[in-house]
Amino acid sequence: MRLISTRQASDPVRISQAIRVGQAPDGGLYMPSSFPSHAGEIANRHDDLPGFAAAFLHPFFDGDDLQPHLAQICAGAFDIPLPDNALSEHCAALELFHGPTGAFKDFGARFLMACLEQLSDRDAPFTVLAATSGDTGGAVGCAAEGLSGVRAVLLYPDGRVSPFQAHQLSCWREPVTTLKVSADFDACQRLVKSAFADPELAQRYNLTSANSINIARLLAQAAYLAFAVTRRFKAKGVQPGLIIPTGNLGHGLAAFIARACGAPVGPILLATNANATLRDWFQSGDYQSRPSIQTMANAMDVGAPSNFERLSSGALALDGLGVERVEDDVIRARIDQDYRRYGYVWCPHSACAAEAYARLPSSVQQARPWLIAATAHPFKFAESVEPVIGVRMQPSPDLASVLSRSTRAKPCEPDLDALAAHLEDL
Ligand SMILES: *Cc1c(COP(=O)(O)O)cnc(C)c1O
Repeated sequence: MRLISTRQASDPVRISQAIRVGQAPDGGLYMPSSFPSHAGEIANRHDDLPGFAAAFLHPFFDGDDLQPHLAQICAGAFDIPLPDNALSEHCAALELFHGPTGAFKDFGARFLMACLEQLSDRDAPFTVLAATSGDTGGAVGCAAEGLSGVRAVLLYPDGRVSPFQAHQLSCWREPVTTLKVSADFDACQRLVKSAFADPELAQRYNLTSANSINIARLLAQAAYLAFAVTRRFKAKGVQPGLIIPTGNLGHGLAAFIARACGAPVGPILLATNANATLRDWFQSGDYQSRPSIQTMANAMDVGAPSNFERLSSGALALDGLGVERVEDDVIRARIDQDYRRYGYVWCPHSACAAEAYARLPSSVQQARPWLIAATAHPFKFAESVEPVIGVRMQPSPDLASVLSRSTRAKPCEPDLDALAAHLEDL
């Protein structure tokens, strides 16, 4: 299988090349040239997630250097519980937060890092540069710890992430370095972009990115969504609807890839926070990126979703798509109401999806099973969730173990010379 750029102005590549470079040379994003409709058939052979994922991903890796290692990579990356937690007859939380850093990012980050480790040349390790507003950096740091072919440099906006997020961005040992940048998230992203755009730096440190434009992350996410939906379909006999909280559209896109691969997915609802770009496009057909605004679902504070280019490329059928925009006061009300009704606590991101479900007419809710993607453990956002539910939350054992680690973050000015000096120091 080859992957092609959404802009179709660079040559098709095999998957390991797409994983190495992240973005295509023409500025586009790589998409598989076709989607095998194999999910149903694999589900008959594999009832464990790692086995299912390896079979699901196989066609994309066919003929590639990584293919012989795929089963082993999946055995490591997907060794995370993936429970459905039924809240009512028709609706269940698909809990994606049982990995070591308590967010769905663990799946994609572990998969991507394992691929890079396999592809690396030990004399010239990859340096993953990740500017993050939250969960990606922690997951990447955790996945990189102890590797020898990949170093990770995590940048975060000092003072603009939650205390827990700051902790889990700075608690990983070698070969992970954390930089707290005295600027906002957009400036961190600009800084990373300018490093990638500097050919000397990029080559010297073998820079690569771990954000959700990397096809490895999307495919890993499509694999567990296909698995979860198939399991629900088998239990209920009707194709489930999927509700995905999304920001950069990585997770949203993964749902469409899962469906394109034959997973029995009904409608796909994307839930955003107050950032309106996607909802406005959905309503008007007109795409206008905007500056991002800060919300309590901060891992989705995106005004220019990178993966929109994939969503609008025509490669994926978008029927059954819905988009709901959810503002902070509504997020709070949803967390409160569902806690009182079901005794269930959503993180602010997952609450956007729960709200999208609540807005459906009851006939639509009852027509099929619905899976609401619960993307992070609510404890990660304790400072905003606890005042709403009026109860102290406990960390999961994984999150408690993150908190028991010591932390170290180096201050960094938001300019390229400062970043280059840190890279030289690695
Ligand atoms: C990253 C993240 C999202 C959004 O994922 P996208 O890939 O940007 O769609 C949602 N919820 C949580 C908890 C996240 O960390």
